[in-house]
Amino acid sequence: MKRKYLSAALLAAALCLSSLTACADDQPYTKSAFTFDTFITFTIYESESSDSPEEICEGAVDMLNSLDGELSRTNPDSVISALNKQAYNSPVSVSDTTYLLIKSCKDLSELTDGAFDFTLGEISSLWGFGSDNGKKPDDAALAELADRKNYENISFDDESRTISFTEEGFSIDLGAAAKGYALDMLDSYLRKAGVTSAVVDFGGSILTIGKKDGYSWNISVTADESDSPVGTLAVNDGFIATSNGAKRFVEYDGVKYHHIIDPFTAHPADSGIKSCTVYAADGLISDALSTAFFVMGQEKTEQFYEKYKIAEYIITLDDGTVKTSAGIAADFRASQNG
Ligand code: AMP
Ligand code: MG
Repeated sequence: MKRKYLSAALLAAALCLSSLTACADDQPYTKSAFTFDTFITFTIYESESSDSPEEICEGAVDMLNSLDGELSRTNPDSVISALNKQAYNSPVSVSDTTYLLIKSCKDLSELTDGAFDFTLGEISSLWGFGSDNGKKPDDAALAELADRKNYENISFDDESRTISFTEEGFSIDLGAAAKGYALDMLDSYLRKAGVTSAVVDFGGSILTIGKKDGYSWNISVTADESDSPVGTLAVNDGFIATSNGAKRFVEYDGVKYHHIIDPFTAHPADSGIKSCTVYAADGLISDALSTAFFVMGQEKTEQFYEKYKIAEYIITLDDGTVKTSAGIAADFRASQNG
């Protein structure tokens, strides 16, 4: 049976009786939690499950916490730490989930010709993103790590489900892809649980399921820390990821260095794109490509789009100009001041 979630509906009805102000008919169920080092907010409008939305969200957060435990490179007990420590010396056995994720990341690294490079962990560590007491890395040390394409040095054994590194001196960093993959897992989880209409905000990455009251979702697209949107995108089911330098950076001698690295220079990317939002039918693809396009710049992004057509984009250039791919141009409404 289809249920609409009116968690506060009775309360709202009571308030309506005693108030002359306008009052929304139905209220979705919402829940926030902290996982993958960020906030996640579930908003569930409709479900066909006999489980309560609260139970469904609790199960979903447990699933995400366990995935985070597996994928975090800062957790010394994670599978990624095991790979980074041991995979050069001996093949490391991983779960089916991790195996497929790493394989897909290698494919995406190849597809983007290394603009998305999930093997730049040593460069991330040198820059010290996420820590307060680092220092600006030495240019010579960065030059050593630039343009390495270390994803080519990862090999897979499908039978034993093991992964090995064929070279030394690099490590995996799934920072540009893990949240997108987690949203893929979450999408399956929520749908299997019977959810038919929901939106999830996972630290700025968005998952939408179904429609909202029969209409598309209108998702705000932001390009900087101001939270003033450059526009709204109307979507049905899908995944939206945004990459920009506003969210995470380190500051050395009063200069800010953002966290999206151009693997060819080992420095923060400076492609002329200020922010990139990608909409795709797959969470991992939307996440990896938002990072890749940010690194590639407008021209290469347009060429990639024409060649593969696997995702749609909205890019805001450094001068504030907003460009959208052809497939979503009609669904994007630019802000008046945007
Ligand atoms: P995102 O916010 O999805 O663009 O991911 C950025 C995070 O991914 C950074 O904090 C790094 O951990 C990692 N990263 C930075 N640059 C790249 C890159 N060019 N390819 C893959 N991962 C990257
Ligand atoms: Mg990304």
